[in-house]
Amino acid sequence: MPPTFTHEFDNASFKGQSFLETGVFIDGKFADGSDNTTIDMAHTLISLRTATGKVLCQVAEATPKDVDLAVKAAQQAFDTVWGMKAPAENRGIVMNKLADLMEAHVDELAALEALDNGKPFSWAKTVDVIAAIGTIRYYAGWADKIQGKEIPSGEEKLAYTRHEPMGVVGQIIPWNFPLLMLAWKIGPALATGNTIVMKCSELTPLTALFMCKLSLQAGIPPGVFNLLVGYGHTVGAAISSHMDIQKVAFTGSTLVGRKIAEAAAKSNLKNVTLELGGKSPNIVFDDCEMEQAINWTTFGIFWNQGQTCCAGSRIFVHAKIYDEFLQKFTEKIKNLKVGDPFDNAHYQGAQVSQQQYDVRSILLYHAEQRSIDSFAYYLQRIMGYIQSGKSEGATCHIGGERHGTEGYFIQPTIFTDCKPDMKIVREEIFGPVGVIIKFDDDDDVIRQANDTTYGLASAIFSQNLNRAIKTANRLHAGTVWINSTNSTDFRVPFGGYKQSGMGRELGEYALNNYTNIKAVHVNLGTEMI
Ligand code: NAD
Repeated sequence: MPPTFTHEFDNASFKGQSFLETGVFIDGKFADGSDNTTIDMAHTLISLRTATGKVLCQVAEATPKDVDLAVKAAQQAFDTVWGMKAPAENRGIVMNKLADLMEAHVDELAALEALDNGKPFSWAKTVDVIAAIGTIRYYAGWADKIQGKEIPSGEEKLAYTRHEPMGVVGQIIPWNFPLLMLAWKIGPALATGNTIVMKCSELTPLTALFMCKLSLQAGIPPGVFNLLVGYGHTVGAAISSHMDIQKVAFTGSTLVGRKIAEAAAKSNLKNVTLELGGKSPNIVFDDCEMEQAINWTTFGIFWNQGQTCCAGSRIFVHAKIYDEFLQKFTEKIKNLKVGDPFDNAHYQGAQVSQQQYDVRSILLYHAEQRSIDSFAYYLQRIMGYIQSGKSEGATCHIGGERHGTEGYFIQPTIFTDCKPDMKIVREEIFGPVGVIIKFDDDDDVIRQANDTTYGLASAIFSQNLNRAIKTANRLHAGTVWINSTNSTDFRVPFGGYKQSGMGRELGEYALNNYTNIKAVHVNLGTEMI
């Protein structure tokens, strides 16, 4: 029987529980990290009881030495049991088994996600875990459909392509959707026959560790999927600069994405894909369906405590409906419940960590770094941004304070009277903080929406599809939602324009991230040159 997940779930509950192991996972075995050190998991629910100073559990800390071991194991698995060595359908079979096992453990996965990350259990169960299972199943279906093509080139020649796996790939993921980001990464990599050395966020490793056990039970051979919990500047840097890793796929901030591209360029020029930050516009036109626009806009900015890369954090509302929208949106926000992630009534849980929640010194912000928006994100976290909005002269229309007296809970917050150069308008806050901006001209709102270094996503609310589609065509963003927002789909590509990244995750497009294309020319003629 799995243990009951409650607030009292603590280190003692983990000890001796066979359902979750907390070592580095290399070659199908859990072990202590090579330096024998650990990382404390002290998140979210600790935030409900900060005063106690308890840690949730400890996990083994990986080091660059463990990266070397994991790469060796992954290479061995690639050369012997995976890659081009095993029948492609075998990969699909074990991936489907993995999805079955995830389905059998939905509650545990959702509870670990809530404990570790602070997101409401109900959202984790109905969105994160279900979407992760769907992603694994979707890519299981692709495993035996990775194929090149013959290219007609006359009677005397056979020319064809092969889509070959790259080999050992490195994957580095963030903390905001720990399980879902893992699924987005391993799905296409495994289906195409690569072996993996993954580093999950040191803040949220629990579902990833649980997935290691499930991967063995599913029959994924040892060494095919290796997981390391470690810090970015040690393990992450070792992965991105490793000479025997052929590709690195990263999801996280623009600042770290830049470092990863640099490390890849300076080492073996490995292939890089980056899924980075955003400051997505939601455009609400005067011909929208009001209730629909309000519900989705709320979800757009407050879902996952605002810790969503594609969060609709800039809400542009047409002047003709601005007052009505603001009044109804405010009512909606007043009714959003914030608190304990295990209480199903709560829409918003806790921010992931104290660092994320906190106020940092605004003086640390260097104006010359402005082109790198994420730089500020590192120095000034959510409460700091709220302070900055107030001190720069925006009106804090609703929220703007800590929720409750302990824990990293923040009231859903909306600013009005914003100017285009305010930090809260330009920078990714990654918290439940949005700005509302009035507009009265379609061309002007498109210009404002595109006035950002990011280009991850955008949303449009209008009942006039002609107007909506024309606007969609002109937005510089990898995703445009019309009359919805934040609704990703494992069949549909996702990724950014500009400093929001390069490459696409999900759908058939993500398969390209993990294959090398080989062209074979066969001379069928008898004549010599
Ligand atoms: P982050 O960039 O701080 O960390 C992401 C991962 O990189 C973590 O595992 C971290 O340990 C690692 N890392 C840190 N420094 C490193 C280094 N020098 N070398 C290698 N790895 C390093 O981001 P975060 O705070 O975990 O996540 C929030 C960010 O992720 C936001 O900017 C958000 O927009 C972005 N994000 C983007 C997407 C997307 O699909 N575009 C999805 C989720 C999150």
